[in-house]
Amino acid sequence: MARYTGPLCRLCRREGEKLFLKGNRCSTEKCAIERRKYAPGQHGQGRGKVSDYGLQLREKQKVRRIYGIMENQFRIYFAKAASMKGITGEILLQLLERRLDNVAYRAGFALNRRSARQLVKHGHFLVNGRAVNIPSYLLRPGDVVSVKESSRENPIIAESMTVAEHRGVPEWIEVEAAGMKGKFNRLPQRDELQLPVQEQLIVELYSK
Ligand code: SF4
Repeated sequence: MARYTGPLCRLCRREGEKLFLKGNRCSTEKCAIERRKYAPGQHGQGRGKVSDYGLQLREKQKVRRIYGIMENQFRIYFAKAASMKGITGEILLQLLERRLDNVAYRAGFALNRRSARQLVKHGHFLVNGRAVNIPSYLLRPGDVVSVKESSRENPIIAESMTVAEHRGVPEWIEVEAAGMKGKFNRLPQRDELQLPVQEQLIVELYSK
């Protein structure tokens, strides 16, 4: 499936805020948002008042960019969320959180979601002991993601796990660092997801 392969910082600059797409660098003064907090391009500094539609669109783009999802696939997630019982916006975020690439990142096996996606595609992970190389694979509560025996020396994964010791792992994932495995214990609650997003605006956008 197609995906965005351009500069990640450009995406944050377009949204005018940090989306933490790179990992460590995002918390340093090298962050592009710290230095140029305006949209990229010729008219980046001259954008005027944003319409309601514009605000809704931006929230959708933000979520897509945070999780690295293309437009068509995002629509599918939204349709799935809308068909499920509960608060659509929250369910949408929970679906995205269940993705294997996201859980691999959250568990500390990758520095960011883009890198996690790459590692999944290259077959470095097992889910419940079986090889899975599909980044969009949706985990269920109780599923265990582990690093393949032959990938345990992978320097990218090793570095990420060192960084993750400082970054921390969210409450809903339980990591056993020595065994290089992480258990997706439960779905996260909305207030646990520290995302700079108003998902209700996305619901409004797609409800038109
Ligand atoms: Fe975004 Fe991170 Fe780049 Fe800053 S360093 S602009 S937070 S991707």
